[in-house]
Amino acid sequence: MSQTISGLRDFWRRLLARPDAVMLEIGAGGELLVARLRALLAWLLLLLPSINALAGGTPKETVIGLFGVALAISMAHVWLALARQRGRHRWLPWTTTAYDVTSTTLVLALLAWSSPVASLNSMVVWAFYLISICMTALRNDGRLTVFAGALALVQYALLALCIFATVDDPGQLFSVEYGTATPANQIQRLVLIGLMTGLTATVVYRMQRLVEMSGTDGLTGLPNRTWLVHRFPSLLAAATGSANALALCLIDLDYFKRINDEVGHLAGDRALRHVVDVLRGQLGPKEWLARIGGEEFTLLLPLPAGLAWERLEAMRRNVAAQPFLPEHDAEPIRLTFSAGIACWPRDGADLSALLRCADLRLRRAKLEGRNRVLAGTS
Ligand code: GH3
Ligand code: MG
Ligand code: MG
Repeated sequence: MSQTISGLRDFWRRLLARPDAVMLEIGAGGELLVARLRALLAWLLLLLPSINALAGGTPKETVIGLFGVALAISMAHVWLALARQRGRHRWLPWTTTAYDVTSTTLVLALLAWSSPVASLNSMVVWAFYLISICMTALRNDGRLTVFAGALALVQYALLALCIFATVDDPGQLFSVEYGTATPANQIQRLVLIGLMTGLTATVVYRMQRLVEMSGTDGLTGLPNRTWLVHRFPSLLAAATGSANALALCLIDLDYFKRINDEVGHLAGDRALRHVVDVLRGQLGPKEWLARIGGEEFTLLLPLPAGLAWERLEAMRRNVAAQPFLPEHDAEPIRLTFSAGIACWPRDGADLSALLRCADLRLRRAKLEGRNRVLAGTS
């Protein structure tokens, strides 16, 4: 029981937390997808006034319908243009979610004007609440799902209350086409909105955990190569914006195969974790360590070449000074690493160019005797 409660607490805590940069990046792609879907749906809405005209609707109804659809298409294209912009607008998913839910409420309110029962019992328009909530899953942000669900619940409950309070002829709550609108079936609709919110929140939670797992190394808990590839552009933008420097260090442990041969693979795994613990203990807030291969790591430092060399050289000395103890009473094993440093923009403008340059320097460090750090012309 207490496990279930702590699981639920963890679910809500993670769901309502601000997603990290990788998740937001994926969410920005989702926002663009939603914007495209919205634009497509808005164009399809053109069919409604056309069908109404063909089915013998009055010209006034057709003109009002066309005006509404033109408004929906224009708004959909404004959201699409904003979602396409390279610089991400943090407010955009919140605004478009509020727009999707509120426009559904407005259409229902307009329907109530001519027929209260059509507004309360219409299935097609009301289903857009569920679609709006469902679409928040594509933005990978649980806070948006909760926001969409809460907004839909409040707006629909208020609308239904207003309609019930203002209708003076009970006959207006019945029609052959829409059946009878009762408080009970409105409560059922509110429950369905709540259920859809819970279901979508669970999907978002599961997706976030999957993205997290795919970007994390299982042995050391460090970010992995996938994480590095996704995250590098935003880290580069942040580092070049503030410090105007970014050093990529490629680290490879020396003679690691020997460790496995001498003490076995399991102790080799522990040795890897030991080095990672020593390195991780020295990281500053804007320094990122990732495991990109077996015993290969990258370290991102927002520093120019000289300072980055000094920083990594200190880390190298610390690792060498803290030997690994394979067993309680066994001989300690001294672990060392070699590293190459490449600096943006001098050595490359993107991740692959920087990795290539750092790898050349790393190989030179190995050839020159290992247990050393090479940067630039050194
Ligand atoms: P050097 O880099 O100094 O040239 O020598 P090395 O022996 O470290 O070089 P190499 O890259 O050839 O070998 C790396 C070894 O690291 C191979 C593999 O046995 C070991 N290794 C890689 N990943 C793991 C792991 O997750 N656990 C363990 N125990 N060993 C690993
Ligand atoms: Mg290696
Ligand atoms: Mg090695």
